[in-house]
Amino acid sequence: MKQVDYIIVGQGIAGTMLSWFLMKRGFSVVVIDDGKKNSASRVAAGIINPVSGRRFEPAWLYEEIFPFAKSTYDELSDLLKINILIERNLWTVFPSAQMRDAFKAKADKETNGKYAEIPQQLQYEEYLQQHFGAAVIKGATVNLKNLLPAYREMLISKEALLDEHFELSQLQLVDNVQVTYHHITAKKIIFCDGAAAASNSYFEAIKFLPNKGEVLIIRIPGLESSDIIKKSITLVPQPDGQFWAGSSFAWDYPDELPTAAQRAVLEEKIQQLLKVPYEVTDQRAAVRPSGHDRRPIAGFHPEYPLIGIFNGLGTKGTSLAPLMADHFSRVIAGETEIMPEISVNRYFNMPRQ
Ligand SMILES: Cc1cc2nc3c(=O)[nH]c(=O)nc-3n(C[C@H](O)[C@H](O)[C@H](O)COP(=O)(O)OP(=O)(O)OC[C@H]3O[C@@H](n4cnc5c(N)ncnc54)[C@H](O)[C@@H]3O)c2cc1C
Repeated sequence: MKQVDYIIVGQGIAGTMLSWFLMKRGFSVVVIDDGKKNSASRVAAGIINPVSGRRFEPAWLYEEIFPFAKSTYDELSDLLKINILIERNLWTVFPSAQMRDAFKAKADKETNGKYAEIPQQLQYEEYLQQHFGAAVIKGATVNLKNLLPAYREMLISKEALLDEHFELSQLQLVDNVQVTYHHITAKKIIFCDGAAAASNSYFEAIKFLPNKGEVLIIRIPGLESSDIIKKSITLVPQPDGQFWAGSSFAWDYPDELPTAAQRAVLEEKIQQLLKVPYEVTDQRAAVRPSGHDRRPIAGFHPEYPLIGIFNGLGTKGTSLAPLMADHFSRVIAGETEIMPEISVNRYFNMPRQ
């Protein structure tokens, strides 16, 4: 029997960050991950953007979230000897005069002054349709394709990774003091299993709002850019010179597979952005794990305190995961109380419908 402090189910960005901060606080972990190819973290582009939505509102807690994410990814970058976080501009093309005006209306405010500006000169004129101009927003990308496998290798070297599908029916809660799963005994188990949590019977009270996103991988002959290019679609430069082009949103979907319908939607947006030909080389789809209020979900089940969850990272997993996982690990270590905004208890205190 292997004995650890915590079993963590899932090694997307949530399970990666939570296991990292738990180990840094001296806890032992086993991470169980089935390596699903189209998990959200394996399909995402890893963009970090300081502003959200059509009104360029500052992202939630960004002033804390970004510096913490940067220092976390930089530390892992040194440890794992890979590139992870790259600070980049988001070359943001205004799709309409209204969007440009909404941006300018915010231009004097703190966030835009600090993170965004209207450039002196338009770039990419040969390649992009930008009738209403563009703004430059300071963001970043997190290279999940480097981080997730390298971190997995580190877990394997510590004998802390099980490469298999976790079956809930095999979990046993022993006298409310420990859990066992096959040959592993732990103080508690924490689910970081992304969209799969929506079908976990322990978490039926949580109002999950999972949504499917699709992306294309495209080649744009001649266009070289280290900027992210964003209009109604976002192009993220890839190490091989291609671009990740995404993404779509669907709340009602029969399966997790790429569809011809969403490819058409994405291609229409690409054609509205590009003046030049492009070639589609791949299409991918994944489901984003989101809660109804778009805030992370962390904590232990009020009736089954051996069972925890870290989920709900929505569209912002790469920026939110480090600070939120660190916070949850401090709660677990008894150093602080959980932030009410992310506590899983908010769902169990809700009137049932
Ligand atoms: C198309 C798309 C684009 C996105 N772009 C961005 C972006 O640019 N920036 C950003 O910050 N966020 C982006 N996101 C959101 C981001 O991907 C998510 O917030 C984040 O990846 C969620 O991470 P997670 O670890 O909670 O879930 P996941 O990444 O889904 O990880 C869950 C893990 O659990 C494992 N698992 C599940 N069930 C089991 C089981 N029973 N047994 C064993 N293992 C199991 C899976 O294999 C997987 O590894 C995007 C998402 C999508 C879909």
